[in-house]
Amino acid sequence: MSFEDNIRKVVPYTPGEQPKRKVIKLNTNECPYPPSPKVFNALEDFDASHLRLYPDPECTGLVNSIADYYGRKPEEVFVGVGSDDVLSMCFLTFFAGKKPILFPDITYSFYEVWADVYRIPYKTIPLKENFDLDDEDYMIENGGIVIANPNAPTGVSEPLEKIEKIIKANHDSVVIVDEAYIDFGGETALPLIDKYENVIITRTMSKSRAMAGMRIGYAFGPEKLIKYLNDVKFSVNSYTMNMPALIAGEEAMLDKRYFEQIRDKVVATRERSKDMLKKLGFTFRDSKTNFIFAKHERVPAKYIFEKLKEHDIYVRYFNKPRIDDHLRISIGTDEEMDELFKALETILQEA
Ligand code: PMP
Repeated sequence: MSFEDNIRKVVPYTPGEQPKRKVIKLNTNECPYPPSPKVFNALEDFDASHLRLYPDPECTGLVNSIADYYGRKPEEVFVGVGSDDVLSMCFLTFFAGKKPILFPDITYSFYEVWADVYRIPYKTIPLKENFDLDDEDYMIENGGIVIANPNAPTGVSEPLEKIEKIIKANHDSVVIVDEAYIDFGGETALPLIDKYENVIITRTMSKSRAMAGMRIGYAFGPEKLIKYLNDVKFSVNSYTMNMPALIAGEEAMLDKRYFEQIRDKVVATRERSKDMLKKLGFTFRDSKTNFIFAKHERVPAKYIFEKLKEHDIYVRYFNKPRIDDHLRISIGTDEEMDELFKALETILQEA
């Protein structure tokens, strides 16, 4: 017996690289544009002498701004330090049973890390060959379900009908729908929180609101589930969100026009990028996200990934079964994407 036996050991999640040098960074699905000018103003006006006090543990201003924006009640909104924190709290709160929770074999790889760290039994369900999800696979006994829609890294967006079938058939477990990328397209399951007691929708300000560095995520759900989430949050750390994040998040939520502007720009660049990638010999499932998960007809993904790095262009490569022939390319500015296409042309010609 040693102290080692008492230590919680886990294999951690591996985030995408954050290179110290200035590179074209298309590897972690960040927004290529800055946050709303209202965020700049609010942070400039922030009086640091307030930092001697604890922040509002209920995050009232931020919660209200999110509730207002989506026409929900504040009691139906939960906020956290990025949707990673929100999802982690959801795992801790809703998956306390003994039956295995279910999620696809190819999805956000943090799910199995949270399951491991919280000792939650889980079973992964293989997606179809083309990365589609089959709702029939989720009609088995389980202790909870997690589905990213649109999915990452595949980019596949499932119709609401399929998501609803899963929620409806699993009234004895909580179904989490991770909508990190929903603002770029796809059908939200948000209206289903009025119809079902067992659904939680998670979202983030990291992608479509250009605030990955501020760490703000949120969830919608029936009041009862949000109360359970808050009870667990207040049992771990009451003050999750710092004052600047609360203020900046509220401003980002209020600036609807700016949000729509940068989202539309990303979507337009994505559509143009689809054409360019096709011309270069890539195939991919249609993406309604801020990234494209593409496979080249001839050249291995790992080779392209490494060569792109030599050109100071970072995309994401997953050395994992079923997806090690794909690259996940985040949508940058038009100029950044042009640099990518130029580099790809050279790399593919030489390969
Ligand atoms: N869900 C999915 C599917 C993601 O891809 C990400 C981004 N890594 C997250 C959640 C977490 O994002 P954040 O913590 O920045 O909100």
